[in-house]
Amino acid sequence: MIKAVVGANWGDEGKGKITDMLAQKADIVVRFQGGANAGHTIVNKYGKFALHTLPSGVFYDHITSVIGNGVALNIPILFDEIKNLTDRNVPMPKILISDRAQIVMPYHILLDAYEEERLAGKSYGSTKSGIAPFYSDKYAKIGFQVSELFDEDTLKEKVAKVTAMKNVLMEHLYHKPLIDENELLDTLHTYRDMVAPYVADVSTFLYEANKAGKTILLEGQLGTLKDPDHGIYPMVTSSSTLAAYGAIGAGLPPYEIKQVITVCKAYSSAVGAGAFVSEIFGDEADELRRRGGDGGEYGATTGRPRRMGWFDCVASKYGCRLQGTTDVAFTVLDVLGYLDEIPVCTAYEIDGQITADFPVTYKLEKAKPVIEKLPGWKCDIRGIKKYEDLPENCRKYIEFVEEHIGFRITMVSNGPSRDDIIYR
Ligand code: GDP
Repeated sequence: MIKAVVGANWGDEGKGKITDMLAQKADIVVRFQGGANAGHTIVNKYGKFALHTLPSGVFYDHITSVIGNGVALNIPILFDEIKNLTDRNVPMPKILISDRAQIVMPYHILLDAYEEERLAGKSYGSTKSGIAPFYSDKYAKIGFQVSELFDEDTLKEKVAKVTAMKNVLMEHLYHKPLIDENELLDTLHTYRDMVAPYVADVSTFLYEANKAGKTILLEGQLGTLKDPDHGIYPMVTSSSTLAAYGAIGAGLPPYEIKQVITVCKAYSSAVGAGAFVSEIFGDEADELRRRGGDGGEYGATTGRPRRMGWFDCVASKYGCRLQGTTDVAFTVLDVLGYLDEIPVCTAYEIDGQITADFPVTYKLEKAKPVIEKLPGWKCDIRGIKKYEDLPENCRKYIEFVEEHIGFRITMVSNGPSRDDIIYR
């Protein structure tokens, strides 16, 4: 059985927690896209962890953690992350790295930073993890596959070719120090020795596992609105954030993805630039940010304060639809317990027209939120285990959202830890 856990919005919906929770009853957790540019926060018996590259099943002995071919693999970061776990008494996870995954090169990270510097105020809000240059090179067919580390002659030749190309940019566009070919080759040899014990033919492994009846979780990063095709282009990420891409980024048959659990947070947050219709500002935003998530809404990778907003039914309905949602996991609901009234964005007004359909970017930039207010429940709902035990106004909020997004909320998360979950 293959299930995907993906985000409906801008990311940071709480996918890590839901994946960690579902991993209790799974065998394999797979990352299929993205890189170390975003992070999941997980709270468990070992403490609180921010994961950037490792799948959110690494805390269980019974799980095999897989880095799929669709991932932008930053090798030093992956190994730092593993060390950070083992240093804190987490048993060494079982890890497989796809031989077809491509490698984030040191110059991708440099080029990302140089480009942001060059664009100055007009930048895309990159986390400078090298993700955009990485995927550009992948599609320009000058990326390095993990498998290529093990073919010395080809590697050497390719390093020479790519260094020559990149150095044109370094010298003439960015006016920065040149890449040294030999140093780069040495780095790649180090990378080869690091990954060697973990490299595998991942798609075959997953195919066999699925045939043998294992449960496989595909763990998405970010959310629909950051998808390069269906998101708020160009303020998007560089690899598809949709469950459908799980088939490609892990090497699985698309029809085998039987369940798509789309994670939706009970309010909105976003990082980086781009239209955010239900955004709030000032004290109202500060309070939600401070109370949000588990210890405030600040980036797991960058520490940047997240932009805050009320729940956006228009964006979430669209976000769930594009994911092919079978189940919605509605998260971080406990945080809203302080509000007398809870504003919800139910439609957009664009050039005087009211719509509940999520538009293309230039129209989105003009959209104004249509807000409805629901009564708050004014109490702490953490610790509640049964849906019927939630306060009536809280259930009404959930049911209101469910009706507007048009997908069934089957899980409600009322706290950061694994057990804070209510099934419906
Ligand atoms: P992800 O990238 O989608 O995994 O999301 P993040 O990990 O960046 O953000 C989710 C944050 O909310 C983390 O700090 C989680 O520990 C926390 N979190 C997840 N679910 C809940 C919940 O139901 N209630 C509260 N209070 N915090 C939650």
